[in-house]
Parts: sequence; structure tokens; C-alpha cells
Amino acid sequence: MAKKSLRIKIHLKCKECGQQNYTTSRSKEIKEKLELKKHCKHCRKHTMHVEEKKLK
Ligand SMILES: [Zn+2]
Repeated sequence: MAKKSLRIKIHLKCKECGQQNYTTSRSKEIKEKLELKKHCKHCRKHTMHVEEKKLK
């Protein structure tokens, strides 16, 4: 039997313009907020993206 994964869907939001550019998932067990450097097409450059919980 496959192990049940506790993954939740999150949005990645640009810190500079607030645009949600990416959707990803992460483990539920990690407490810290996810932060990734991604390209924002709105800012047209790489910016920090922070996770934002997906609304149900
Ligand atoms: Zn942006």
C-alpha cells in the first residue's frame, strides 16, 4: 500500500507585486513559510515568492 502523503496545495505569491504566479504543493509537516526565487512575469524579473495557502 502506498504511503499517504500529507501534501497541501499552495500558491506562490510575488513579494513585490502580490501577483500569484505559481501553484505548487508542499509537505504539511514543514512549519516555515516557503520562499522561492522565481520569475514574475508581472515584474519581468526574478523576485522572492512566498507561499499563500490555497483557499478552499
Ligand atoms: Zn511581481
